[in-house]
Amino acid sequence: MIVYGSRMYGVRNVVLSHGECEKCGHYGELKSYDGRRWGHIYFIPLIPEGKPVRILKECKKCNSASSIPLADLDKVLTATRESVEHCLQAVEAGKNHFQLPGQAEKLPTGHFLRSHVESLFILSAAADIEVLYQRLEAAGAGHELLMAQSMHCELCGELNDSATFLEQAVDESDDPAVTLYLLARIYQSAGRHAEVVSTCEKCLNLAGDDLSVYLLMADSLDALQDYPRQNEILQKCVQLAPDLQTNKKFMKLVNKSRKKAEKAAR
Ligand SMILES: [Zn+2]
Repeated sequence: MIVYGSRMYGVRNVVLSHGECEKCGHYGELKSYDGRRWGHIYFIPLIPEGKPVRILKECKKCNSASSIPLADLDKVLTATRESVEHCLQAVEAGKNHFQLPGQAEKLPTGHFLRSHVESLFILSAAADIEVLYQRLEAAGAGHELLMAQSMHCELCGELNDSATFLEQAVDESDDPAVTLYLLARIYQSAGRHAEVVSTCEKCLNLAGDDLSVYLLMADSLDALQDYPRQNEILQKCVQLAPDLQTNKKFMKLVNKSRKKAEKAAR
């Protein structure tokens, strides 16, 4: 039997992070690394398939990942650093929103820095995050610092610490509903389902009906085996997004929840 196939060779600059797979939704370890795919026979690489790339957030469960050509890595990193610099200058000037050059949209500094901590981390530029902390501390930017630290802890798999930072960030946030939603997601990843439900309730009280909040809540009510409440929440989801009725997987969940709720009522 001839063993042939293709795989990544020359793997280096490996960064392991924790988070949710954008493709399959699995929460766990994600792998980012440089490498190049080669066709092999008996595991001897013979033919390069494509250019060297940096693979970003490869999921262990479904193997999906995004990638950028290694030749573009410096350009991407420079652009990321420039964006962070614009944001930092706004924070240092005492602002909590800012605009990127040539863009009309006003971005919230805390959420922006939070997502860019992830970019720097998976691009293997963790040293930049330390510098970011120093600048935020020097500027007395408590909220931005908490948002950045919560992401950093989550990436390192320290979910309870991540939650603690976000709990503190909620009080200082000018958009607490979004921060509460992020907090509820962290609680869910940490298996703290009762706190997911109470945090989602706070979020709905502040911002009104929101499908993603209800869906998050329904998942945790399942874990808590509170089917009557779950059934109620799933009905809300259908009201908000009637298209869900054509989603077989979702409707299976609705039916299961209704049956279990009926059983609980007997
Ligand atoms: Zn996946």
